[in-house]
Amino acid sequence: MTLRKIIKMPNSFLRKKASFVDKIDDEIKTLLSDMLETMYNANGIGLAATQIGVDKRVIVMDCGQKTMIDDKDSKPNPIKMINPEITCFSKTFEEREEGCLSIPGYNAIVKRPNRIVVKYINENNVQKELKANDLLSVCIQHEIDHLDGILFIDHLSRIKKEMIIKKINKEKLNQKEIK
Ligand code: ZN
Repeated sequence: MTLRKIIKMPNSFLRKKASFVDKIDDEIKTLLSDMLETMYNANGIGLAATQIGVDKRVIVMDCGQKTMIDDKDSKPNPIKMINPEITCFSKTFEEREEGCLSIPGYNAIVKRPNRIVVKYINENNVQKELKANDLLSVCIQHEIDHLDGILFIDHLSRIKKEMIIKKINKEKLNQKEIK
């Protein structure tokens, strides 16, 4: 397994719509393992291939066996999804604080449907369907957004989003000046 480099905002690759995977071969299996390792290494709970600069509709997650992020007793529960697609959204919404490995240092409350049904292909080429709620539901929606070039800040008000973008651009400018 290899740690991959996580690309960060404002890298324009994060805005790319990812391509569907048409064949599950060793390259995809290696990609999935590398992504999980990279995600754990960065203390994340989800990672999309887009975030490591790979143009494929592939996501990995681990929200633990219980859906509470602050539950220290929760066991690892790695999930790998190929060509994931949400087929059903609840009409009820929930607000949760989200962050992103590609936008380090920024968190914000995002409102999303709290229950979803997602269909995907697993690494053994089997079509699967999963009903998710709570943190896992949020995580899946956040990661599939990445495959469509959408970031969690796109779900915020324009003012909040622009504030974050401004700060990131300023940080980038400062880093350049130091170099
Ligand atoms: Zn993210």
